[in-house]
Amino acid sequence: MATGTRIEPLIQIDSSLAEPARPAASARKPKKKLVRRASPDRSQIVRHGFQLAFLLLNIWIGGEFYLRVRDFDAGVTPHFSRPAGVDGWLPISGLMNLKYWVLTGHVPSMHPAALFLLVAFLAIAFLLRKAFCSWLCPAGTISESLWRLGHKLLRRNIEFPRWLDVLLRGLKYLLLGFFVWAVAAMPAGEIRNFMHTPFGLIADVKLLNFFRYIGETGLIVIGVLVVGSFLVKNFWCRYLCPYGGLLGIVSFFSPAAIRRDPERCIDCAKCAKACPSRLPVDRVLVVHSVECTACMECVAVCPAEGALGISLAQLPGAKWRSRYLPAWAVALAVAVLFFGIVGYAKLSGHWQTDVPSAVYQQIVPNANQATHPMP
Ligand code: SF4
Ligand code: SF4
Repeated sequence: MATGTRIEPLIQIDSSLAEPARPAASARKPKKKLVRRASPDRSQIVRHGFQLAFLLLNIWIGGEFYLRVRDFDAGVTPHFSRPAGVDGWLPISGLMNLKYWVLTGHVPSMHPAALFLLVAFLAIAFLLRKAFCSWLCPAGTISESLWRLGHKLLRRNIEFPRWLDVLLRGLKYLLLGFFVWAVAAMPAGEIRNFMHTPFGLIADVKLLNFFRYIGETGLIVIGVLVVGSFLVKNFWCRYLCPYGGLLGIVSFFSPAAIRRDPERCIDCAKCAKACPSRLPVDRVLVVHSVECTACMECVAVCPAEGALGISLAQLPGAKWRSRYLPAWAVALAVAVLFFGIVGYAKLSGHWQTDVPSAVYQQIVPNANQATHPMP
């Protein structure tokens, strides 16, 4: 902990764009006395546990949903009811439903889980930066596993030159801008009508069928993403995921951030080296970047007691000091927000899409005829 009160700048530009100059190697040699951490960091064990649990949950949901659709296709009564969690794979529906809810005050009846899951992930982003990406998202988990495998086999990952990296990172905002523009142009009535078309109703089945009957182009795209993720850290999340882009924008307003205590820091730069988002953690006091996923990898490798951690902002004039949050507190906050919001949706009867099985029986086997209603 620092001994004096430190005043943080209210706004810092993305620290990954404007990097403070790194001193020459000789000047960077640790000069301060290292006070070693009293206990080993367990944040990565907890985080990987969350990632695995959420990946298994998604595999379970996907498996149930696949068997249900297969039963409909075969014309038999499905053995499983629809797992509403599949709505988590419909972020555009979530965005449309969020707009509908804000404009009308009514929770939509089609894919309401998409709305509540989006709200849960936005809440996590606001309170704990992009923790969804590094703690929960199955795509993020697969992406992380791939680059770790790539690093193990090739002994390194590719790092694009900074100008190209910045340029590519803009792609996810372009994609996000397109989706936001499309949803912004739809009035509430149009959103409701869209959701009640066969296409809107079985958007989940359409997505599943895309992978079940994937064509050559789809396979090439997935192949490029897999190879890219193998070679480059968080290739999909960093450059292309519009969902991550949205969460990043929300996370900019988060009171939580990685903070460094310069009095305890020995300037070893291990944190910056470990950061998968390539953030110059060792050269800023507060990591304000929208690329920070609260993965705490930087904290895990820091050898100095109290030099680095994630903490809430210190309010001006507040008597209490900003303290680092332990990994279990971050994990607890993620779990409480996720289960709290999902639990509320379930208890209030706003979780399941309320469509009789007979309707699905009619539409699902003919899913390829359910085309997008927009021109
Ligand atoms: S390593 Fe630290 S700075 Fe980098 S993304 Fe993770 S939490 Fe943020
Ligand atoms: S904050 Fe970073 S540079 Fe400072 S001691 Fe920890 S790992 Fe080293």
